[in-house]
Amino acid sequence: MEKELKTIREIALKEISQAKSLDELNNLYLKYFGRRKGKLTIILRGIKDLSEKERPKIGKLANEIKQELEQELEKKKREFQEAKIDIIAKKEWIDVTQPGVKPPHGHLHPITQVRREVEKVFSSMGFEIAEGPEVEKEYYNFDALNIPKEHSARELMDTFWLKDGNLLRTHTSPVQVRVMEKRKPPLRIIAPGRCFRYEAIDASHEATFNQVEGLMIGEGVSLANLKAVLISFVKRFFGEETKTRLRPGYFPFVEPGFELDITCTVCGGKGCSVCKGTGWVEIIPCGMVHPNVLKNVKYDPKKVSGFAFGMGLDRVAMMRYGIDDIRLFYGGDLRFLNQF
Ligand SMILES: [Zn+2]
Repeated sequence: MEKELKTIREIALKEISQAKSLDELNNLYLKYFGRRKGKLTIILRGIKDLSEKERPKIGKLANEIKQELEQELEKKKREFQEAKIDIIAKKEWIDVTQPGVKPPHGHLHPITQVRREVEKVFSSMGFEIAEGPEVEKEYYNFDALNIPKEHSARELMDTFWLKDGNLLRTHTSPVQVRVMEKRKPPLRIIAPGRCFRYEAIDASHEATFNQVEGLMIGEGVSLANLKAVLISFVKRFFGEETKTRLRPGYFPFVEPGFELDITCTVCGGKGCSVCKGTGWVEIIPCGMVHPNVLKNVKYDPKKVSGFAFGMGLDRVAMMRYGIDDIRLFYGGDLRFLNQF
C-alpha cells in the first residue's frame, strides 16, 4: 500500500507539471480526487479496512500526498490563469487617447437632394409645398383633369389598377385638384412625389419615378407669368447660361399647352447622345390650366386663370449629373449612390 501511494504521487506530480491547459488540470483533479473513481479517493476510502498497525502510518502518508497534490494543482492553475490574463492584456489593449473610428454615415439620395433644391427655388418664389396620396381615386387622376373615360390620353399612361377600383397615381397632377377643391385662389403650390406607371423598364423608363407638379392660380395670371417663373427656375437650377424655348404641346388638362425645352446641360447645346444631337432637351411640359379643370373644382374660369407644369425629378437629376440610365437611381447600389 505504501509503495502504491508513492507511485501514484510520482506519476501525479509528473502529469501536473506537464499539463498544458486548465482543462487538462481539471481532468487530472478528477482522475485523483474524483468522488467515485479518483485514485486517491479510493485509497483513502480503503484505509478504514486496514489493520490497526498499518492504519495510522498509511493514513498519514495518504493525507500528506493528498495535500501536496492539491497544492501543486492549485499552483499550476494560478500559472495558467495569470498567463491567460497576460494574453488578454496584450490582445485587448486599448489606447483610450487615440481618436475613435468614424462610423460610416450616409447621405440623402440624389433624387431627394434634387427635390429639395427644386423646393427651395420655388419656395423663394412664393410657392407652397403640397402633398397628396400615392393611391389615388380614378376621379382625381383622370376625370377631374379633363381626361374622361375612353380618352386616348388615358392610354398614354399605363396604369396600375387596384382591385378596389383605385389606382397608383400616374402623375402628381391629382394633387393640384385636391388643393383647389379645398382652397380659394390665389394660390401657388408645387407638389413633389412618387408616381407609378406600368411601363417596360429601360434606360429612360422606370415603373416608379418622381415628379414635381406646379400650379399658380389667380386673377389675371397669364402665359407671361408662366414663362417668367419657369425661366427663373431653369436659370437658377441649371445655371444662368441655360437657354429655354417654348414649343406647342398637347396635355388634356391645359389649353394652350407647351413643352419647355432647355439647352442640353451635358454638351452645352452642341449636340450629344443625351440630346440626340439636337442640343435641346424637353424638360417641363406646361400650359394654361384648362377651363374644364377650373370648373371641376368650382372656380370661375372667367374670373381666375392659371398655369400648371410638371417635371420629372429623375430626368432633372439625370441632366444635372450627366447620368444616362434612370435604373441606377433605384438599384440601391452604393458604388453609384456614394458619388453624390
Ligand atoms: Zn447634348
